[in-house]
Amino acid sequence: MTTPMRSQYLALKKQYPDIILFFRLGDFYETFDDDAKIVASVCDVVLTSRPVGADERVPLAGVPYHAVDTYIAKLINAGYKVAIAEQVGNEPPKGEKLVPRVVRRVVTPGTLVEPGLLPEKANNYVAAVVFDWDARPTSPPAPPLRGEGRYSPPSLQGKGAGGLGRAGLAYADISTGEFAATEIGDGPDVLRRVQEELARLAPAELLYPEKDPRWVPNPPSPIPNLQVHPTPYPAWRFEEATARQALLDHFRVASLAGFGCDDRPLAVAAAGALLQYLQETQQGNIAQIASLRTYSISEYMLLDEATRRNLELTESIRGGTVHGSLLGVLDATLTPMGGRLLRKWLNQPLLDVAAINARLDAVEAWYRNAGPRAELRQLLRGFGDLERWVNRCIQGIALPRDLVGMREALARVEKIGALLERSSVKGIGDWGLILNPQSPVPNPQSFTAIAALLTSAIADEPPATLATPGVIRPGFSAELDGIHAAVRDAREWIANLEPVERQRTGIKSLKVGYNKVFGYYIEVTTANAALVPSHYIRKQTLVNAERYITPELKEYESLVLNAEERILELEGQLYRQVLAQIAEAAPHLLATARAIAELDVAAALAEVAEANRYVRPVVTDNDVIDIKGGRHPVVEKFLAGEPFTPNDAYLSAEQAIIILTGPNMSGKSTFLRQVAHIVLMAQIGSFVPAESARIGVVDRIFTRIGASDEIARGQSTFMVEMVETANILHHATNRSLLILDEIGRGTSTYDGLAIAWAVVEYVHNHPGLRAKTLFATHYHELTDLAERLPHVVNFNVAVAEQGDKVVFLHKIVPGAADRSYGVHVAQLAGLPKPVITRAQEILADLEASGAAGPRRSVIDRPVVYQLPLFSAEDPVIAELRALDINSLSPLAALNKLYELQKRVKE
Ligand code: ATP
Repeated sequence: MTTPMRSQYLALKKQYPDIILFFRLGDFYETFDDDAKIVASVCDVVLTSRPVGADERVPLAGVPYHAVDTYIAKLINAGYKVAIAEQVGNEPPKGEKLVPRVVRRVVTPGTLVEPGLLPEKANNYVAAVVFDWDARPTSPPAPPLRGEGRYSPPSLQGKGAGGLGRAGLAYADISTGEFAATEIGDGPDVLRRVQEELARLAPAELLYPEKDPRWVPNPPSPIPNLQVHPTPYPAWRFEEATARQALLDHFRVASLAGFGCDDRPLAVAAAGALLQYLQETQQGNIAQIASLRTYSISEYMLLDEATRRNLELTESIRGGTVHGSLLGVLDATLTPMGGRLLRKWLNQPLLDVAAINARLDAVEAWYRNAGPRAELRQLLRGFGDLERWVNRCIQGIALPRDLVGMREALARVEKIGALLERSSVKGIGDWGLILNPQSPVPNPQSFTAIAALLTSAIADEPPATLATPGVIRPGFSAELDGIHAAVRDAREWIANLEPVERQRTGIKSLKVGYNKVFGYYIEVTTANAALVPSHYIRKQTLVNAERYITPELKEYESLVLNAEERILELEGQLYRQVLAQIAEAAPHLLATARAIAELDVAAALAEVAEANRYVRPVVTDNDVIDIKGGRHPVVEKFLAGEPFTPNDAYLSAEQAIIILTGPNMSGKSTFLRQVAHIVLMAQIGSFVPAESARIGVVDRIFTRIGASDEIARGQSTFMVEMVETANILHHATNRSLLILDEIGRGTSTYDGLAIAWAVVEYVHNHPGLRAKTLFATHYHELTDLAERLPHVVNFNVAVAEQGDKVVFLHKIVPGAADRSYGVHVAQLAGLPKPVITRAQEILADLEASGAAGPRRSVIDRPVVYQLPLFSAEDPVIAELRALDINSLSPLAALNKLYELQKRVKE
């Protein structure tokens, strides 16, 4: 026979078979059976057992409720999901033995709301993707995709092979309320586009229809290099009708036209499925999802995953952290909302000149007004996460300290509004209206009203949770104040009872006491029993005394004893009302948070522009890129000591392709990337590291740079290089910017040269292509192209030779380089001297004889390598060997050592 609690547990567990069930028992969340084994090993807690019937025990592992976040984090990181079952109330209902329990929330990687588990300056997205493979192709299939193999086993060729069709993609961040959807297609490269969009979003969790065999995750990442938790979800949830209805019901609307997705069935399918998933995991508690934004990926500059990575937009290739990335340089934001917005901007450069200029206007306004900017940034420092606080209010999970944070933030908003008013610095969006405290329309849901509410309702320093009284400020609720007053009175009355009754009854020895069994009582010695008034009720007889109570005493007693419970209950009620009021004002508060985010980003970009000497780019719709004195925003920060050499770059329809030659280490890659960075920065609305810059908007930036990290993915370096090159040639337009670093390097010289040559010709001659291209190469033969193709020009990186030393000038100058200096770089890198000498010899011979290979006379010349330690010629070693250490004083030995080292160094 199992215990009732075991039955209750099993009934709940049945609903969440694949999810770890945290079962609240007093101060612990307990897990049982296999869940317990997982929790014990993942969370490093003790695995014990618990009796569940007459002679049955099951595994048990528990974690304390107050530290539950850390354990959830460990489980989520290990790829598990956690369902949290809480007790409903403290007492079992009448006639039952157990407190009922319900699952309040299912925590998954994409639906975290715990502040401690969330990245502050990045969104935590859950995304959903659905494909329609029946959509008719409009162009021939694209070459196979890198990474695609992970999701399409070979047996699944046929329908949808090659990525034909359309896709719907939706994403949400329940900690901020963001919810958006898009439809992607028509075309052969729908999978790639989806991958690009997912690479931009970097969701923590991805939903897909479980029956779609292309999405069998093995291994589980649809986005190469990105960690995403795959969640197969029933296919019927993605059916358009079901999905549409879910959206209509949630938003309480009759049509989706208002959200712009009425006629986009796949966007609806993805968004509707995602919404159902959120409802399920949050147990319906998703009021913060207040709107759906339908967007088109064509509003933004397209950046594929390789390009995002190569340009180190948000993380460095080496460290994998924001340090050393472009974001690392640009992010001077001071609020979490601002940090998230800047990351979004960086991931989605704009195409619309007017929109870009609007952002630039705002940045320039703050740039030119350093005083107000400093004041603004002072107010933003420590502002806190207004956006997530509001969402926690909507979800009803905000803690008192969240409300205190919100109160302080809103007080600052008022000051920021006043600052804007005073300094009349205009920026972007409608924040001017929102933040203006003198707004002519009084609004009960405005942030000022909410700030006032929080001031009047919440104590100055409330306790951490509602389990302790004192969250609500005295004066806010007459009822609560009444209880407090009544309790005070009752305490006083009881305290005064002894003298009052002594006087009334004339019994000098009368005492008022308290014990756990009877509560308060009046004690009279047996000798005085006759004097006891008639309304005293006898409760207990002792050896020489009697104990009494009175109805009045019991009434005051119950007031005092029940006070805490009543206060907690009423405080809970009032608190929930406050949260509801905030939730009501959420649209306005979230708009305020957005305004703060935009101000923060604009002021941060201005701050960075000033600190790093950036200029405002002139952004146009024509197709000229003209950068004077451009610098690499990241490299210039990390150069120790020596100054960064600025360089010009000019690209247009006339001068479309630059072939850049130059020695290793001279700065070719740096130059290529800096042009891409400057264009990208301009299109997010940032100032740029240059003396001046005119940027004709580009629709895509493609990069083909290095491939060292691909080996781990089981593809050869050269194969990856060619797949990426194919992608570029298929998808670039004449408005694109191509950054090609050493194409063809990964194969034999002739193959590589031939491919590189053909690629340049193709870009140059293909109608509709002729993309602006920077092509860095070690194949000097390619410089001949400039003479044959009218829109190709040669540049090289200048080098100065001083004796046998080479000095890198890092200056990009017209013309082709004449030498590589590869051997020189090898020497700098510390290759053994004999190797360098021999290489120089072979090089000289090759240069004289042409590419046919070194002559036999050179090859056959014997080279003698000696073990350097025993080469008798070295006088230092000879001296060391001859040294009689025993005859040296310590000081003399030290001096000798010093001298020997000095000679070696020389
Ligand atoms: P390789 O052909 O070997 O790949 P490269 O020519 O692409 O080399 P980079 O990697 O761009 O060379 O540059 C090498 C180093 O030179 C950089 O790490 C940087 O420290 C320095 N450098 C590059 N450009 C400049 C510049 N304009 N001013 C100052 N230093 C620079």
